[in-house]
Amino acid sequence: MTTVKCHVNTCTHWLKGMCGAGNIDILSESTSFQPVEGKETQCKTFHKREGIGDYLSSLDNVNWTGTAASLLGGEMSPSITCTVDTCHYWGQGDRCQAEAIEISGSNADESRETNCQTYSREGAQ
Ligand code: SF4
Ligand code: SF4
Repeated sequence: MTTVKCHVNTCTHWLKGMCGAGNIDILSESTSFQPVEGKETQCKTFHKREGIGDYLSSLDNVNWTGTAASLLGGEMSPSITCTVDTCHYWGQGDRCQAEAIEISGSNADESRETNCQTYSREGAQ
C-alpha cells in the first residue's frame, strides 16, 4: 500500500502530516490536458476545514481503522485513485504504484492549491 504524507493542514482529513480519508482522488488541475509536472496535479478529496459542519460532511470518507491506529502511534494512509496517466507511477485501473507519495499545499483554500509532489513524468526516469 502506498504511504501518503500530506502537508495540507487546512484539510478536514489532515491529521499531523497524515491523511485520515478512506480514499483520495488525485487528478489533473485542468479538464483539458494531463499534467507534465507535479504542480498541475491536485488532491480532489481536499475539503477545507472551516467549522464543525465541514468536518461532519467529510465523515463518509474516513479511514476509521487507520485513524484508530494513528492515535496509538501507528501509521495510516488512504487508498488512492489517480487519473494522472502521464505519471511514471501510474498503473492500470487508476492505481498509484509509488511506495509513498507526498501531497503539498500548506494553508490551501481549494483543491487546486494542492499537488502530488511525487509526480514524475513518464519516460523522464
Ligand atoms: S489534502 Fe488530500 S491527502 Fe491531504 S489530508 Fe486532505 S484528502 Fe488527505
Ligand atoms: S505519484 Fe503519480 S500516480 Fe501516484 S498519485 Fe501522484 S501523480 Fe498519481
